[in-house]
Amino acid sequence: MSTRIVILGAGESGVGSAILAQKNGAQVFVSDFGKISDKYKQKLNDYKIEWEEGTHTFEKIINADEIIKSPGIPEKVEIVQKAIEKGIPVISEIEYAARYTNAYKICITGSNGKTTTTTLIHYILKTAGLNVGIAGNVGQSWALQVAECNYDYYVIELSSFQLDGMFDFKADIAILMNITPDHLDRYNGMQGYTDSKMRIIQNQTNADYFIYCADDEVTQQEVAKKTILAKKLPFSIKEKFTEGAYKENEQVIIKHHKNEFTMSIHDLALKGQHNTYNSMAAGIASQVLKIRKEVIRECLSNFQGVEHRLEHVLKVHGIEFVNDSKATNVNSTWYALESMPQGLIWIAGGIDKGNDYSSLEDLVRKKVKAIICLGKDNSKIHKAFSHIVETIVDVQSASDAVKTAYYLARNGDTVLLSPACASFDLFDNYEDRGRQFKQAVKDL
Ligand code: ADP
Repeated sequence: MSTRIVILGAGESGVGSAILAQKNGAQVFVSDFGKISDKYKQKLNDYKIEWEEGTHTFEKIINADEIIKSPGIPEKVEIVQKAIEKGIPVISEIEYAARYTNAYKICITGSNGKTTTTTLIHYILKTAGLNVGIAGNVGQSWALQVAECNYDYYVIELSSFQLDGMFDFKADIAILMNITPDHLDRYNGMQGYTDSKMRIIQNQTNADYFIYCADDEVTQQEVAKKTILAKKLPFSIKEKFTEGAYKENEQVIIKHHKNEFTMSIHDLALKGQHNTYNSMAAGIASQVLKIRKEVIRECLSNFQGVEHRLEHVLKVHGIEFVNDSKATNVNSTWYALESMPQGLIWIAGGIDKGNDYSSLEDLVRKKVKAIICLGKDNSKIHKAFSHIVETIVDVQSASDAVKTAYYLARNGDTVLLSPACASFDLFDNYEDRGRQFKQAVKDL
């Protein structure tokens, strides 16, 4: 009898997993407690895969041999708990898809910088002529690509929620950008979240590589207390290494296996300290894969960046507008503020995931002229900054935020949307928030 695979959550990863499972001869059932989008219903119908929405039919789920759970569904929901009690393995799309490919896997995790670094590495490898796909939180689901494409390499962005459902998976190159507080509402405090991130190196052997930020305190502590078999390749802007990447005299230096690559930070396309880290991580991975130095150099200086990450929108009457809608936690906003000039009108707010704003105080004091709160409940922002910034205005739409910012800004100022919060109170998602912001700027 064929294996019964039940998929919880019919989003990009769930539908991709369903198609891969079907292709591998499993009996597949997809269940989504919410509404499934028409695009995905169509896909499931095309493949004749059974599905349900608006409910989880207990009997049809609890008879599974294995459950593939969308990373968006918390483990504590009833149906998942029941499955676990019954001993049914609950895994993630990535764990499942890995069984059906021998491709080389470069995997990126961290609290911030994942998508930028993933996209940058993919760009370098593609430019170098490798047969490479990009997956994880970016673009098409990995399972679908494993089902339909035949790549030799994959660059995969992994969130902590995806890592939680991974057990036998092994990354050939694991990259950990940083570990700073995020999603603490879904983990039992910081250690739970840290443990989840550290799964990026699980099962690695001495034939594999672990690239990580040596300036990140939490990562450093974990590296010190764990036995790590993979070859360690740290990156830092403070320390020097004989293997890894560092910054010296405005140069980025990457050393691996007697190879040395040097490039001025002024030639890097991605600006700001956080992006230097991202470029370093991508550079090390490329060196490990023996990409030619000229290709690495060309790509690090030409990369266009990713939408909604410190994206330059327009200059209107000498006022620069920057869209950093993807900054959904305090740490990413810290880096955004750090990379900006003085004379800032800062648009922040949304759904707060347990934010502590104190780390932003110094930067706000130095650079921010006015704060525009774009959220339903802005009380925490007022409380955190009203003693530092005189002008704090509440708005409820991207359009009002942009108009107010434009009114308050003077020639030479910058308006930065870098919310430090999730977007779901007023917008569909961070992309929607970023696009509405950009549209409002264009409408000025
Ligand atoms: P992720 O995929 O991890 O959310 P992104 O590359 O999408 O990361 O960037 C998200 C936000 O974090 C952006 O607003 C960006 O300004 C900021 N950021 C990017 N890279 C880093 C980094 N290495 N450290 C801290 N913040 C970063």
